[in-house]
Amino acid sequence: MNRVLVTGGAGFLGSHLCDALLERKNEVICLDNFFSGRKKNILQHLDNPYFELNRHDIIHPFFAEVDRVFHLACPASPIHYQHNAIKTVKTNVMGTINMLGLAKRTGARILLASSSEVYGDAEVHPQEEKYWGNVNPVGLRSCYDEGKRVAETLMMDYYRQNQVDIRIVRIFNTYGPRMAIQDGRVVSNFIVQALKEEDITVYGDGTQTRSFCYVSDLIAGLIRMMEVEDFTGPMNLGNPEEFTILELAEEILRLTKSPSKIIHKPLPSDDPVRRCPDISTAKQKLNWKPKVHLKEGLQKTIAYFREELSPGKP
Ligand code: NAD
Ligand code: UDP
Repeated sequence: MNRVLVTGGAGFLGSHLCDALLERKNEVICLDNFFSGRKKNILQHLDNPYFELNRHDIIHPFFAEVDRVFHLACPASPIHYQHNAIKTVKTNVMGTINMLGLAKRTGARILLASSSEVYGDAEVHPQEEKYWGNVNPVGLRSCYDEGKRVAETLMMDYYRQNQVDIRIVRIFNTYGPRMAIQDGRVVSNFIVQALKEEDITVYGDGTQTRSFCYVSDLIAGLIRMMEVEDFTGPMNLGNPEEFTILELAEEILRLTKSPSKIIHKPLPSDDPVRRCPDISTAKQKLNWKPKVHLKEGLQKTIAYFREELSPGKP
């Protein structure tokens, strides 16, 4: 049995990862400051003796003896990470240094949940790992984009300088149950708006694209990457099926049978125009590719939000 530390373990992805790790008979230590995560996401494990919850902010050092670190702590929604931009940078820089220090001391293998945002408003399509990106260093998204880029740099420098055993994964837009209702990311926003019969807010003309990965596929990829030998990454994980934001809105309206209308709002600054992962590396190194198509994943996510929005739900 491995003892595994999951930073951001009460968040959307972190909580699904905790489920999967406990299922695989690991001991799990979950660290979270509950900035964008919720206790509700991990409530099911609080009585499990192999699960430990720590309310802790990773910008402060943390000490534990562990074999693996999945480093996910960082708000992922643009609304959340821009709410306190300086804190987002601290989480990515000081938090990552603290977790690398822990990995160095314990000899644990550490995996960083980086992001497709390191490619910025990409000029290369689809995005492959060798592309260095097109990132604005002084914009509203920079706290997150540059934060993730320096987190990757720190991972590589601890690997080269201190031989820390690292893995870097660049996650592309992932969705599913347990996204917060107020999360602000596009899939949860559109589903909640459709179910509440409110207007669907498409930013800009809706021709910008994203590729949406269902959470179970992503978690399977993270776990495989952690266990693969002799490969640090960076490696893209995501679903290469690309859709415009308008197509996503229309599909959600169809699946929810909602009478909501699509309205347009201003496009946020530096919003990437096209995003789609090249997943050749993940296919080759991990024998991994996503299995869940958008329609199926959306149906599951819609069912979750229907339940969450039902009257009397805490
Ligand atoms: P999330 O906001 O639901 O989860 C992040 C978790 O980290 C939350 O529980 C939050 O409370 C916690 N956290 C934030 N700052 C912290 C700090 N200083 N100390 C301790 N805990 C802290 O987001 P998510 O979608 O689950 O994303 C998880 C990770 O994956 C993030 O690092 C994110 O950047 C990365 N990622 C996610 C996506 C995606 O589409 N979901 C895409 C790219 C990258
Ligand atoms: N978006 C939108 N309406 C919303 C939320 C987001 O049109 O209510 C758009 C956003 O401008 C972006 C895309 O959907 O082009 C994905 O946004 P999200 O915040 O989910 O993640 P991003 O990929 O931008 O980090």
